[in-house]
Amino acid sequence: MYIVPEAVIDGLLTRADSFQAVEAVFASMARGAARNFPVIREAIGHADALYGFKSGFDRESLALGLKSGGFWPGNAERGLTNHQSTIFLFDADTGQIKAVIGGNLLTALRTAAASAVSIHHLARPDAEVLGMIGAGHQSTFQMRAALEQRKFRRVVAWNREPSMLDRLAAVAEEVGVPFESVTLDRLGAEADVIVTILSSFAPVLMSAQVRPGTHIACMGTDTRGKQEVEPELLARARLFTDEVAQAVSIGECQHAVAQGLVSPEAITPLGAVIAGQQPGRQDETEITLFDGTGVGLQDLAVANAVLIKAIKNGSAIKLG
Ligand code: NAD
Repeated sequence: MYIVPEAVIDGLLTRADSFQAVEAVFASMARGAARNFPVIREAIGHADALYGFKSGFDRESLALGLKSGGFWPGNAERGLTNHQSTIFLFDADTGQIKAVIGGNLLTALRTAAASAVSIHHLARPDAEVLGMIGAGHQSTFQMRAALEQRKFRRVVAWNREPSMLDRLAAVAEEVGVPFESVTLDRLGAEADVIVTILSSFAPVLMSAQVRPGTHIACMGTDTRGKQEVEPELLARARLFTDEVAQAVSIGECQHAVAQGLVSPEAITPLGAVIAGQQPGRQDETEITLFDGTGVGLQDLAVANAVLIKAIKNGSAIKLG
């Protein structure tokens, strides 16, 4: 078996590698070849931590395994990331352990890849302005991956605490794209693509602020009760997701479904668009909305890809 420690992963997997891995597993899910198993998430009654497992199997890539980890709110004070995760891969033919792989950076990369895949398949080809809502840890990953999907000429951004936008401004400067901190009204009026990446429990972006033709990737809502946009916006949009069961229970769709504004049958798995089973955007005035809830198969897909690279360049530690 191999160990791929967190410290060697930076620089091993490109954004293009992550994009490819996530796009492929979404399509595999749509073909019925890949399945996520029920998620376990528990408060452990120690250190205020939430701990759990996300697991699954992809018959096409033979990625079998789980991501284990969760949220330790006191970690920041210790100089550690609050979210901690480790991915375990198993041999699909024998069940033997194949690898233990650091999951922190991979989680950020696979989450950014999901919104990028949605932009690639659903945003208008002529999209020029990217709107970013949220400026936490995950936001720079989302922005870098999004910027590679269209010829964006400008970024407009909003965050509740505007000073946090400095980290996005720095990325924009590095990439060479003009950046402006704006109100939500301006953001909705100017952006062709909007990425939301908040840990909010109330809607921040309102339906009236979004114009026809926009593609929105809602990436922050991954738990019951979280919410980033007004449910009326979902009722106006064509809806896509990674997995419908998660979208209606823990994703952005949970609120619109609970209010009877949207039926689960109206939500299309993005993989079905990738696999050519369902149409994507149908005209330039449609609002498309991707509800990215985050599935275990995404983690296994990027872990598989990084393991191959780590073995090849000698950074994977071989045991036994
Ligand atoms: P973070 O704590 O670093 O940043 C949180 C962001 O949300 C900041 O921009 C903060 O200003 C904003 N925010 C917090 N409360 C708010 C409120 N009430 N109203 C408006 N804005 C508010 O978190 P992060 O690591 O950047 O993650 C952001 C979100 O993405 C979290 O909810 C996290 O659980 C989620 N996430 C989802 C996936 C997925 O696959 N979908 C993967 C990783 C993280």
